[in-house]
Amino acid sequence: MSESYANRRAALRLKLRDLELDALLVTDLLNLRYLTGFTGSNGAVLVSAEGDEKTVFCTDGRYLTQSAQQVPDLERLIERPCDLALAAKAKGRTGYESHHVTVDGLDSLAKAADAELVRAPGLVEELRLVKDEIEIEALRMACAAADRALAALIQHGGLRPGRTEREVARELESRMLDHGATGPSFDTIVAFGVNSAVPHHRPTDAALHKGDLVKLDFGALVDGYHSDMTRTLVVGKPADWQRELYDLVARSQAAGRAALAPGVALKDVDKAARDVIEKAGYGEQFLHGLGHGVGLEIHEAPALSKVGDGTLSAGMAVTVEPGVYLSGKGGVRIEDTLVVRESAPELLTLTTKELVVV
Ligand code: ZN
Ligand code: ZN
Repeated sequence: MSESYANRRAALRLKLRDLELDALLVTDLLNLRYLTGFTGSNGAVLVSAEGDEKTVFCTDGRYLTQSAQQVPDLERLIERPCDLALAAKAKGRTGYESHHVTVDGLDSLAKAADAELVRAPGLVEELRLVKDEIEIEALRMACAAADRALAALIQHGGLRPGRTEREVARELESRMLDHGATGPSFDTIVAFGVNSAVPHHRPTDAALHKGDLVKLDFGALVDGYHSDMTRTLVVGKPADWQRELYDLVARSQAAGRAALAPGVALKDVDKAARDVIEKAGYGEQFLHGLGHGVGLEIHEAPALSKVGDGTLSAGMAVTVEPGVYLSGKGGVRIEDTLVVRESAPELLTLTTKELVVV
C-alpha cells in the first residue's frame, strides 16, 4: 500500500519539475490522503521535487500513533498549525494549493515562509482524475455494498405500500453498513410517485402507494471512495407511460455507456445519451448533465455535460445518469458508476437495469 502512495508522489514530482517548483505544500485533506494514506482531520505534506527523503509530513499530537502507522515512510513533524510549520521548512520556489488556501491563510503562509510562494492549483486533482487499480478496487467494493443493500431491501419487502421515503432511505443506508460501507457516500435520495419528478428530492414522510415509481439514488463509502447509483422501480403493475419512459431513459443510458472510451470528448458522451432523449421529444425534461467523476469525492472531475471541456482517459471513473422528469407525474433516472478502459468500460454498479417491478 505505501508503495502506491510513493508512486503517486513520484507522479506529482514530474509535474513539479515541469513547473520548475522545488516543492508543493499540500494542505487539502483529500489530496493529503491521496498522497500519503493519512485519514486524520488535520495535517499537511511538503512534497519535495528532489524525492521522498526531503519530503515532510505534518500532523498534530492527536494523530501521533495513527500517523506512525499510516505514514511510516516519510519524515514526520508533530506540530500545529501544520501549514505554517511546513512553510517555515520550505526552500526555493514552493507551490501552494491556491484553490484551497484562503486569502488570510496566504498572508500567514507568506509570513512563515522564507521560500518564494507560487500558486499551484489543481496539481494533485489532475493526478486523481485517472484512478490506479487500488482506487478502482475501493470503488468496486463501494459499488458492491450499494448493490447488495438494494437487493436485500427488495428481498426483505422494504418497498411495500405504506412505507415512507425516510424509512426506506434509513433502511438502505443501514444495509450498506451491513455490507461493508463506512457510511453513505451522500444523502440518500428516495422519491415516490410524483416526487420522482424532482431530480434531487429529499426523503419525506410521504408513503408508498401501489402504482408509484420509486427513484433511489444512493451510494456507499469504502476506504474513502464513493459509489453512486440510481435505480427507478415500479410498485405494482407499471402503467404504459411508466414503461415507455423507463425504456427511453434506459436506451439513453446505454448510449451514454457505449460512448465511454479513451479519447472521446466529454461533450460527445453527454450528446450520445442526450440525443436519444431529444429525438423522443423530452430534451427539455432532461434537466442536468449526463454524469460526473467519482473517487475521494462524490462529485469530482471530469464533468460529462454539454459544456465539459476535455476528453476521457482510461482509468477515469465516471457516472452515466440520464433522467427525464415529468412535473406532477413522475420521473425516471438510471445511473451507473463505471471505469473507462482501453476496451469496453468496466461497469461497477451491477444491479439490473431491466425495469424492476415489486
Ligand atoms: Zn447518484
Ligand atoms: Zn451521480
